[in-house]
Amino acid sequence: MTAHRIADFIWQRLTGLMPGELKQAELGWLALPHLHMALLTRRRATMIVNRVRLFSFLFAVLTPLWSLVDLVVFPFPLWLSLAAMRLLAGAAFGMLLLYRPNGELFDAYRAMALLFAIPTAFYVASFSLLGHYQLTGISAAIGAGYAFLPFVLLAGLAIFPLTLLENVVIASPILIAQAIAGSMRWATLDWPSFAGAFWLLVLITGVATLAGMSQLAFMIVLVRQAIRDPLTGVFSRASGEEVLTLQFTIARRSKAALSVAFIDLDHFKNINDQFGHDAGDKALIDMTSIVSGHLRQGDMLVRWGGEEFLLVMPNTDAAQAQTALLRMRSAGFGLRPEKTPLTASIGLAECRADQSPDWKTLVELADKRMYQAKEGGRDQVVGPT
Ligand code: GH3
Ligand code: MG
Ligand code: MG
Repeated sequence: MTAHRIADFIWQRLTGLMPGELKQAELGWLALPHLHMALLTRRRATMIVNRVRLFSFLFAVLTPLWSLVDLVVFPFPLWLSLAAMRLLAGAAFGMLLLYRPNGELFDAYRAMALLFAIPTAFYVASFSLLGHYQLTGISAAIGAGYAFLPFVLLAGLAIFPLTLLENVVIASPILIAQAIAGSMRWATLDWPSFAGAFWLLVLITGVATLAGMSQLAFMIVLVRQAIRDPLTGVFSRASGEEVLTLQFTIARRSKAALSVAFIDLDHFKNINDQFGHDAGDKALIDMTSIVSGHLRQGDMLVRWGGEEFLLVMPNTDAAQAQTALLRMRSAGFGLRPEKTPLTASIGLAECRADQSPDWKTLVELADKRMYQAKEGGRDQVVGPT
């Protein structure tokens, strides 16, 4: 019992150190990427690729440019070999600019791995080359600078919104390579200075990891806030569009059904006009909580704007969607302030039956049918015929 209390106390203290905006469940997201929800993963993947591109651009320009410094301080044959390596590395960085963010985490990992692999290869090649020369004075100082590359690499981790696990996986090879390189020079190695440098590398990795994780923490909070509509708590339009993009691609790829219902509440303006804006807000909150209670796993309710909602139903064909909407309408959309039922006009579209080329067309079609439902006298569903 006491042990439990102590453990609880320590846990409270530790979580108190984390960004206060983060919820308990989200703390685990800082450690492991597979816990993340799809929207966070996509945004993170996009951000990682964009940062890779930014740094690729900088390095593609700066790496060859540094040859000018080499030219001043190094003897000619060494300069020429280094310049060739620099051009090669610059070109490799330039190739990374061809990467386009597509929201896939695997592609983001690959882009990041390449970003780290290019300087690592350059480091190994330049370091063994410099070893053949006895440099003195300023050229020795510039030459020693080449040994700082692993430090720069590990510090560079700080710019990516990564989980603990991802940081460890990326930093480990660099640290292990450094340790192996040290043990290979076992006999001649200056142990104290090697140990000092290695310890510094570990410290930098730790700080960079913390920096990356705190970026991730902010990102989690921002994504959570952007995902939900503040009034009703259902998905916001921005996240709805992201989900539609995703679901449409999935439906396309697997030739599965995807239904979208456009729901517009009937005579809603009357509620505001007669009973005030707060009564209108309350009707919206009631309506979303009732509809949310009737959703199947995988269905998504999106506040598309004002009193218009989109119901996204993956793996649901038009007939199944009609059944779902029938059930939803018989449960009702709540009551108006005057205690009569609040009704809705609904337009339904399905990607296979309607052969939509993209999700926008699908939504436009559902919108058009919603207007037909209005014209037909409201409180009804118009679907594909
Ligand atoms: P119908 O759709 O049946 O044709 O009539 P309507 O009265 O619902 O038509 P319309 O779409 O023109 O009106 C929508 C109204 O919804 C207008 C706007 O004042 C109200 N509205 C939009 N967003 C909110 C909101 O967040 N809170 C409140 N209280 N009202 C809102
Ligand atoms: Mg409307
Ligand atoms: Mg309306």
